[in-house]
Amino acid sequence: MSDRLPGFSTLAVHAGAQPDPTTGARATPIYQTTSFVFNDADHAASLFGLQAFGNIYTRIGNPTNAVLEERVAALEGGTAALAVASGHAAQVVVLQQLLQPGDEFIAARKLYGGSINQFAHAFKSFGWNVVWADPDDVASFERAVTPRTKAIFIESIANPSGSITDIEAISTVARKAGVPLIVDNTLASPYLIRPIDHGADIVVHSLTKFLGGHGNSLGGIIVDAGTFDWSAGSKYPMLSEPRPEYHGIRLQETFGNFAFAIACRVLGLRDLGPALSPFNAFMILTGIETLPLRMQKHCDNAKAVAEFLAGHPAVSAVNYAGLASDKYNQLARKYAPKGAGAVFTFSLKGGYDAGVSLVSKLQLFSHLANVGDTRSLVIHPASTTHSQLDDAAKMKSGAGPDVVRLSIGIEDKEDLIADLGQALGA
Ligand SMILES: *Cc1c(COP(=O)(O)O)cnc(C)c1O
Repeated sequence: MSDRLPGFSTLAVHAGAQPDPTTGARATPIYQTTSFVFNDADHAASLFGLQAFGNIYTRIGNPTNAVLEERVAALEGGTAALAVASGHAAQVVVLQQLLQPGDEFIAARKLYGGSINQFAHAFKSFGWNVVWADPDDVASFERAVTPRTKAIFIESIANPSGSITDIEAISTVARKAGVPLIVDNTLASPYLIRPIDHGADIVVHSLTKFLGGHGNSLGGIIVDAGTFDWSAGSKYPMLSEPRPEYHGIRLQETFGNFAFAIACRVLGLRDLGPALSPFNAFMILTGIETLPLRMQKHCDNAKAVAEFLAGHPAVSAVNYAGLASDKYNQLARKYAPKGAGAVFTFSLKGGYDAGVSLVSKLQLFSHLANVGDTRSLVIHPASTTHSQLDDAAKMKSGAGPDVVRLSIGIEDKEDLIADLGQALGA
């Protein structure tokens, strides 16, 4: 072997995987088993006491999932990762390690609609209070910090607006406040943006989207950057205090720069239970092998479609950070020089009714609530994903009544443009 460090595309194919030691299988096998036999009683005891690493039960870990975890950790530049059943499960497990009842976290207002609901409503019943800030106004994060603030949560490329967040500026606020910065990197994928390189302490993904990439499997993942000191003060007792369920060990002291990933596994996943099926891990691993090829095609197609829409008379505005005229183009050039992603919104002169009409006339685009599929997708957020928000909140999250969201696939761009042309013109 040369001493060259492997590049991104090589890691996407190989990181975490070895030929199977028993059978020689080259693709990662699906270890479709609930449980694993111990070598002997001492081995069993050491696994349960966290004195040795190994497989116990698939709710806590599985060899297929472990390859996925190692691969995404490598692609994101983190120390370790934990795969879970969905993107939303990743968010619950992360925040459960950080917040006690009565605590707060600051979240960007421009987020995936499901995350807005989860944070504002479901988390309230856990006693976790979200405080919203404006990702375009870094000072609004600074103003929101209180002694109960335990984390800051942003999206690198926001869903549905496609706007780019100034990760470095917000990471400076987090560092000053002594709290970790969590970045949802779902829409960018590590091919476009690696948040850890810009100061993120924790990265979360919905693997359901671009990483899996084929619209066939749900999954989520948490990546630990290994950068945060959990023992400062007594702010993060899950990490810094003795754990009664593990003979009084302190996770930060025992596991150092991957303590957060361990906490998510042995306290979050073990006790809350949202384990990823090894079959889904296999599907997502297969998807990740082509991530660099797909992501580049997604972005190149998105730019061509955005340019077409920008010149169309029925369209009042296109919000794609990859267009030179876009408000976020400077941030896109800095954070996502290979492409500004494939999810963006545009506005129709005909308002709400035109949005509803467009989704019904498109043929190649599928009208559904997902992004990051090989297929091109369309949705009208105001009548679907963001319909629960009041009008002011819809506008603030980039989902006004005239807004249509596209997720551009990897088809031929000429066919996508022709389909939009017929649906807009008819
Ligand atoms: C889809 C999505 C989620 C939630 O992921 P699930 O896998 O559907 O639970 C979170 N964040 C973003 C940006 C998403 O697009």
